[in-house]
Amino acid sequence: MLALQRLPDMMLALLYIAATAHALAPTAVPTRVDVAIAGGGLGGLAACAAMRARGIDAHCFEAAGELLRGSTGTGIMISANGMSALGAVDRRLPAAMRARGVRITSQKITKYGADGAEEKSVSMDATTFKDTFGHDQYNIAWSSAHEALADVVPPEVVHCGRAVAGATAAEGGVDVAFVDGSSVRAKLLVGADGIGSKVRSLVATGDDAPRYSGQLLWNAIVDSAALPLHGPGEVSFATTGVDGRAILAFDAGGGKTSWYLTLPATEAPRSAAAIADGSFGGFGRPGSTADLEASFARFPDALACLAATPPAEIFERRLGDRPPLGSWTGLDGRVVVIGDAAHPMVPSQGQGTMVTWEDAADLAALVAAEGASPAATKAFAARRGKRCDMVQKYSAASYMGKTSPTRQPRKIFSMLGNFRRIKQMYSWKHTLDELPGEPFARWAWSGPVVRD
Ligand SMILES: Cc1cc2nc3c(=O)[nH]c(=O)nc-3n(C[C@H](O)[C@H](O)[C@H](O)COP(=O)(O)OP(=O)(O)OC[C@H]3O[C@@H](n4cnc5c(N)ncnc54)[C@H](O)[C@@H]3O)c2cc1C
Repeated sequence: MLALQRLPDMMLALLYIAATAHALAPTAVPTRVDVAIAGGGLGGLAACAAMRARGIDAHCFEAAGELLRGSTGTGIMISANGMSALGAVDRRLPAAMRARGVRITSQKITKYGADGAEEKSVSMDATTFKDTFGHDQYNIAWSSAHEALADVVPPEVVHCGRAVAGATAAEGGVDVAFVDGSSVRAKLLVGADGIGSKVRSLVATGDDAPRYSGQLLWNAIVDSAALPLHGPGEVSFATTGVDGRAILAFDAGGGKTSWYLTLPATEAPRSAAAIADGSFGGFGRPGSTADLEASFARFPDALACLAATPPAEIFERRLGDRPPLGSWTGLDGRVVVIGDAAHPMVPSQGQGTMVTWEDAADLAALVAAEGASPAATKAFAARRGKRCDMVQKYSAASYMGKTSPTRQPRKIFSMLGNFRRIKQMYSWKHTLDELPGEPFARWAWSGPVVRD
């Protein structure tokens, strides 16, 4: 009887250990691996999952002490190309993302004048996305997407508290050095360490400084019950009569709303001063809520976002990217970068993670075909460069809250151009998801583009 009573407790304990395995750091660092991946974010985990699904000895080395770190205040829109790429990374992932996220069924666009008066509001049916692009759009909290990826990577190959400091050429590969003094020999080092990538410095040449767009962004995730700005499965976007000042709120699934406020720095003098003195950025800068209340005083939707969110949970950043890389590989092809380390972008099109997941799937396919070798990384760089440059450039050009042309013919022209570009981004490889058998058996390459 006692044993029976204790069984649920023991099972709970085992489940707890399984669920928190990724948080138990640090794991022992192996001395040799085939592929060392710097970074365990959305890109690093996806690359690790895709490689392990193909029998490749890949390990993630993450700087943070814990893998799952809770909310980043960000929601992710999973468009058709991202869903296809996820299916190619690991075929369990599309269903896992759908279960944690929400299917988007409508998009509301409101145009306010600078005085706050509503000039126009249209609601667009988003249930047609599947016909147009090949998949429905699913939105999800960043942290939920991260958890779904962590679930398909064995915890013992994720090494937290291991910040990559650099790498040097070694016999048959590279020696990857960590900030704590430890190291690992790898045939390949994959830099998936984000916009401030350390690994990128091993491949970049010339001026590689961040390029700031002049637009600032504040965002948070809150309970939808506290912020009824959208219906279930709805994205609500508003322009405000000032170029670059926008309000976005969307259903992120799981009862959560993801909201964003953008301002050009010229419209936010106190924030511009904080940039100048180095205090701008991150969660909860003192005074930022009051500054935003002043800037959005005529927009009740924006004020509702601020009222629903404790200041400490509002994340702020300067938007920007980095110049396209001349080469994505270094140390004779033994080092390669993916995701934000390779092509950080302005989040106006919600494509940063999507192309990162494409990278992960593509790189794993090439390593599976060519081995953990320079041939694989060079083929990868050649395949990815042109597409990622295009998406990065379009994301910068079509920043959030960009005012549309006022003259009708130019407006129509611009709308058609935008639709063509979005279709080009979203539809990539979309027919390949959820087909029976090995996804790569049906993988249609987009055609080689020589860059390296
Ligand atoms: C506000 C906002 C909204 C966005 N919305 C969307 C969206 O809707 N759709 C979309 O597709 N994309 C979106 N993006 C973009 C998306 O967040 C990024 O493109 C994506 O997270 C890139 O993943 P990554 O793994 O390359 O980099 P990151 O997510 O930055 O992960 C990098 C990882 O590397 C670790 N690291 C850093 N340095 C080191 C080191 N030296 N050694 C080891 N580890 C290290 C970090 O701790 C981190 O875990 C958005 C971005 C922002 C800012």
